[in-house]
Amino acid sequence: MSDRSSPRQNDDEELVMSLDDVSVHFEKEQGFIDSLRKDAPQVQAVDGVSIDIPENDVLALVGESGCGKTTLGKTIIGVQRPTHGSVKYRGQDIWDAKDGKGDVEIPYGDIRKALQIIHQDPGGALNPNQKVLTSLEAPLKRWDPDMSTEDRRARIFALLDRVGMEPPQEYAHRFPHQLSGGEQQRVALVRALLMNPDVILADEAVSALDVSLRVETMDLLLELQEQFNTSFVFISHTLSNARYLAEKADGRIGIMYLGEIIEIGPPDEVLNDPKHPYSKVLRWATADLDPSEQKMVDPPVRSIDIPDPVNPPSGCRFHTRCPEAREACKTDKPELGAEAGEPGTRCAACHRTDPDHEYWDSAPLDGVESTETPKVTDDD
Ligand code: SF4
Repeated sequence: MSDRSSPRQNDDEELVMSLDDVSVHFEKEQGFIDSLRKDAPQVQAVDGVSIDIPENDVLALVGESGCGKTTLGKTIIGVQRPTHGSVKYRGQDIWDAKDGKGDVEIPYGDIRKALQIIHQDPGGALNPNQKVLTSLEAPLKRWDPDMSTEDRRARIFALLDRVGMEPPQEYAHRFPHQLSGGEQQRVALVRALLMNPDVILADEAVSALDVSLRVETMDLLLELQEQFNTSFVFISHTLSNARYLAEKADGRIGIMYLGEIIEIGPPDEVLNDPKHPYSKVLRWATADLDPSEQKMVDPPVRSIDIPDPVNPPSGCRFHTRCPEAREACKTDKPELGAEAGEPGTRCAACHRTDPDHEYWDSAPLDGVESTETPKVTDDD
């Protein structure tokens, strides 16, 4: 593996992606009559996220279904337009480039080529009526129309060979239904790599595969990530997959809850010593991370129900479920901190990480057992 422990790059130009205070709010799907109302309810899918992605970075975003991880991933690679904040590729605002606003230094077409996606269902992303070769030639023809047919096919065959689809000429002439799920996922990976991208979003890219194939595919993704100097953003609902990828790549895990990143940092710190009570819930739910925690019959939350993202709880969004919640959590929103999005930095958005916060003097919420809870500091 390459040296990923180099100091953080502060210059906007040196980062591949930089998100600043990004929010994505959608109008909630509703019936026809309700849709005529001017004050249609807004789903706060992503709220106030700032994060940097340098070259050759690996970020695994994890959280329960509906936490906003896929929306955030799509926003990082410029597929989803934010409703607030900025998304920059090498210092160029993506959406200004698309809209032709201001001095556009990097054309939108170049940005689109540099940011690619692998979907959860590779079979669904491939045209069932087209041979693999046709599906793979299409993006190259679109983005690099001057490339000769010979060069195009040489590149496709080389990449098919690289992902273990040998002989590549034979695989290139198959239809998607003639490929296994793992082979379809490899074709999707080749399609993403054809553009020599800077960032690939892998959205639950291994969750449909069986366990043995999952590990093999994750290893292949990591090999290619390093070989092609590509940054990867992995989306996963399972902490064990996120840990496998982030640990092997010396990357980061970002844990999301109700549209916010609530804890982020190196996987050993986030998983072995979680600071946020919600990170502890995810760890509890992942038996192979710490079997001793499974001795707790009940999950370490007060309520199983996830609040509605249309109307998230005030203050700390986790306070309705948090077993450590106090009155201060209802009104005071905890912040991740200014350095939270930087590689190598671990931060948690919880008042318990601040030994001077008024949290420690406020009363436990109804339903929370009043116990002498130790303060959690970085020295603990
Ligand atoms: S801020 Fe309060 S409610 Fe939120 S996670 Fe920390 S202790 Fe729990």
